Amino acid sequence: MANPQTQPPHVVIVGGGIAGLAAAHRLQELSREREIPLRFTVLEASGRVGGTLGTEQRDGFLLELGPDSFISEKPWALALCRRIGLEPELIGTRDEHRATFVVHNGKLELLPEGFMLLAPTKFGPLLRSRLFSWSGKLRMALDLVLPRGPQQDDESLGSFVRRRFGHEVLERVAQPLIGGIYTADPDSLSLAATMPRFLQMEREHRSVIAAMWKAARHRPQEAKSASGARWSLFVTLRNGMQTLVDTLTARLSLGQIRQHCAVSHIERADDGQWRVTCLDGSTLAADGVILATPTFQTAPLLRRLDPQLAAHLDTIQYSSAATVNLAFRRDQIPHPLNGFGFVVPDIEHRKIIACSFSSVKYAGRAPEGYALVRAFVGGSLQAELFNLDDAEMEQAVRQELATFLGIQAAPLFTHIARYPRSMPQYRVGHLRLVETMEKQVARFPGLALAGNAYRGVGIADCVRGGEAAAELVLTQVVAL
Ligand SMILES: Cc1cc2nc3c(=O)[nH]c(=O)nc-3n(C[C@H](O)[C@H](O)[C@H](O)COP(=O)(O)OP(=O)(O)OC[C@H]3O[C@@H](n4cnc5c(N)ncnc54)[C@H](O)[C@@H]3O)c2cc1C
Repeated sequence: MANPQTQPPHVVIVGGGIAGLAAAHRLQELSREREIPLRFTVLEASGRVGGTLGTEQRDGFLLELGPDSFISEKPWALALCRRIGLEPELIGTRDEHRATFVVHNGKLELLPEGFMLLAPTKFGPLLRSRLFSWSGKLRMALDLVLPRGPQQDDESLGSFVRRRFGHEVLERVAQPLIGGIYTADPDSLSLAATMPRFLQMEREHRSVIAAMWKAARHRPQEAKSASGARWSLFVTLRNGMQTLVDTLTARLSLGQIRQHCAVSHIERADDGQWRVTCLDGSTLAADGVILATPTFQTAPLLRRLDPQLAAHLDTIQYSSAATVNLAFRRDQIPHPLNGFGFVVPDIEHRKIIACSFSSVKYAGRAPEGYALVRAFVGGSLQAELFNLDDAEMEQAVRQELATFLGIQAAPLFTHIARYPRSMPQYRVGHLRLVETMEKQVARFPGLALAGNAYRGVGIADCVRGGEAAAELVLTQVVAL
């Protein structure tokens, strides 16, 4: 506990990804709002903060290495941007080009208009679509008459989609779209932890399609009051996601960030004071600790303190993914690029899992007359492709771009970014596991976990998790 005569309470945040930075920023905000004196230190193992977020500028192109946007429906990242003065920098998708293609039998087919992740909301475009067979379309429509499934806590995405809409929807759309977001196998992915609203729709309305029609009818009124109403579903920053990291970092005046400081373990003394030890042997005393690291890093930090909690953390598996940015002259790409990109179902057995037409999706990503595309490689279903060396990976991606977009020319440049063990796999029962871990952590006042392993992998969820950890720890530190 800090001596009130000398030092204000000190909170150590381990991990300088977006969750850790959001936690630090929220601590600072709360300290000022509630007039509670406070210091914090962010300890980051690598030589830069931001974790998976990163943007590079090259020859007039703007390359997103990790995430290229965040969702506006979940308000936390958008709200943070507003609070740190980034609202004028926010840009939405260029919705006049909004369309997604799906690879089917080796060719790009349009995802029918109105198809919402795993269910159709418009029958006209669905009937005309070549993405599904007639029997597949009829099977999808069965959702309208099928009874509710058995009452259960959780179910895999694969099982849910198969029983409500049939295997074609699962293999051709749900797997590449949702599996793509989570880089996961839909047959082990928890529906409750990833797409709870579909589970809720079935519980409340029986038919998911009917529930979506109903929601669509109410949307105009809701949109007026929703915080994201001004925005497209996905938003980004004019100069890239790095702006969020740089702006947050620049505003953290109540504390400091230490890079090249990998934490090896944490201990708690009988008086509740924490001791955080780094790999270089240095130690920091703290009144509170927020661990915003991936669970395979968090587990060893806590092993001495609570081996059972560490064992639970160890059960969360991660997949790896790489992004491959390729710059072209526009006239080198025969395809009209009339969409935001395409996804590749696993059943197609190709070497990429998705490709974004980055310079179509957002303004300012390529100079006039040029185009930027970005492919994703790896994930849990194609883990071996993540291990290709750079030359092999570029070659594999170029082969796929030749097939689907007709690009024969060499790119002006290619940039490969690798994210090993970056995407936690939310397996069936994930939420129960998280609740158990939260109860275990609650036994140690002043300690909190944050990051993409727990209640959402997206940036908005990571911001929420970091901010919630800050609020919890501050309350407990003040109460100590
Ligand atoms: C390729 C890719 C694309 C994505 N696209 C999107 C997208 O478009 N939109 C979206 O919303 N989400 C997207 N995501 C997901 C999202 O970016 C991540 O889930 C999120 O950024 C994770 O943030 P985090 O703070 O939890 O973890 P990280 O970003 O992993 O940060 C953890 C930090 O902890 C540090 N660390 C680890 N161990 C220690 C230690 N012992 N001591 C000190 N520091 C340590 C690490 O160096 C790292 O900086 C994407 C993810 C990937 C991989």
